[in-house]
Amino acid sequence: MCGLIAITGTPGSAYDVFFGLMNLQHRGQDGAGILTIDTKKKGNFHLTKGSGLVENVFSERSFKTLTGHAALGHSRYATVGRNDPNMLQPFLDYDRGLGLGHNGNIVNFYKLREELYHSKTRKPLWVESDSELMLKLLCDELEPGPIDFQNAQGAVKRLMSKLVGSYSVICLTGEGDIFGFRDPDGIRPLCLGRRMQEDGSTVYALASESIALNFLGFTDVEDVQTGELVYISKGGVIERKVIRQDSISPCMFEWVYFARVESEIDETSVYNARFKLGQVLARQLQKENISADVVVPVPETSRVSAIAVAETLGIPFRELLIKNRYVNRTFILDDQESRQEAIRRKLFPIGHEFEGKSCLIVDDSIVRGNTSMQIVKLIRLAGAKEVILLSTCPPLVSPCYYGIDFPSAKELVAHDRTNDEIAEILGVDRVIFQTISGLKEALESETLCLGCLTGEYPTDISSGRDFEAMRTRDRESGVKKHSSC
Ligand code: SF4
Repeated sequence: MCGLIAITGTPGSAYDVFFGLMNLQHRGQDGAGILTIDTKKKGNFHLTKGSGLVENVFSERSFKTLTGHAALGHSRYATVGRNDPNMLQPFLDYDRGLGLGHNGNIVNFYKLREELYHSKTRKPLWVESDSELMLKLLCDELEPGPIDFQNAQGAVKRLMSKLVGSYSVICLTGEGDIFGFRDPDGIRPLCLGRRMQEDGSTVYALASESIALNFLGFTDVEDVQTGELVYISKGGVIERKVIRQDSISPCMFEWVYFARVESEIDETSVYNARFKLGQVLARQLQKENISADVVVPVPETSRVSAIAVAETLGIPFRELLIKNRYVNRTFILDDQESRQEAIRRKLFPIGHEFEGKSCLIVDDSIVRGNTSMQIVKLIRLAGAKEVILLSTCPPLVSPCYYGIDFPSAKELVAHDRTNDEIAEILGVDRVIFQTISGLKEALESETLCLGCLTGEYPTDISSGRDFEAMRTRDRESGVKKHSSC
């Protein structure tokens, strides 16, 4: 997963993008980049990229060179190729005068790469990134001459006919225009915002999540539609068209875990969705006459759901697992060992409050089970009488081919196991998962990507099987070849 933001038509656009990226940091912590264009000198792009958190990549000095009225920013979380700074985005094609940032994963990357860019007649890719491939394809599909809405429309249409997978994309042109598009199944989010300037003009921006735009004073934020292209000229003229729609399948995991709780995605508030996930789960417990002395959230993502569980069941809500805020999210760390070490450093229990109590521990999801196992150990050591683990997400049983880092089924603790078996592995008395119908009820949608829950995906994933095998091989051999975001 990655964070994207672009803005045009305002001086100091790089500052806006920087503060936007700060609000998208949760979507990727491997590195960040900002690309600007100084339209006074046509084609004069400025690019700064670096590994690490957004605030560490950019300094006052960076902004002296990041001049121009239009900027594109990217924060990176990579499924593979994490430590390679060459993989950082935005990517820029100097010849065509086009920069690109991508959030998602191209399932048929390997196939396309072989067909298009490893033949003798084509230039090889500089890095093994599906985002770079996308930029090259897009540049190839654009007609010669200036990039405008018409030109972009044709190119994106042809691009969509080639790509399989998830992609929200934002581009910055040498003219100072920006444009963005969302894949034909709408798997990854993208939104559009408007802001009135003091001089009465309107500025437009595109971003992965509404929080980034709201923070910057954009008050009129709406979703880019599934398969839609939105083109914004540097003069503030906006043109949009749905290029292609195959299905409406936004990733359910955005609401369950990934997105900021302040965001709204596809007209559904992340906060409301998480609250309802808790309410629906609590009703499930009521039906089974399950109760406890205390409801405890696993911070941070599950807090809202845990409040709803406690309210619905009439059980005290207590924050008894304390997070060290200086340790980053464990789910997006690089490998199993660093994840386990981070969990140990990240959470600490208020020991005496657990003693002799029956506890409902609420987590947003159970992926590999590492976090749960560590937490349960801590709670047991503190003397809890009973530990019931609630997951606001249904069991994750299949890989994600669209950019979430649980690529192999065997890594998923719920794959091919009963709830009793999972409870035994995690060391809890009982584990209770959200149901798929409960998830749909909470998200108020029947049209979601549920691939990792059901094994049924919105796109063809046959070439993704190769992708999974190659990634496993790369991981085992320590070679990190393919990068997606
Ligand atoms: S497979 Fe799961 S994690 Fe991946 S996009 Fe679909 S719902 Fe999201």
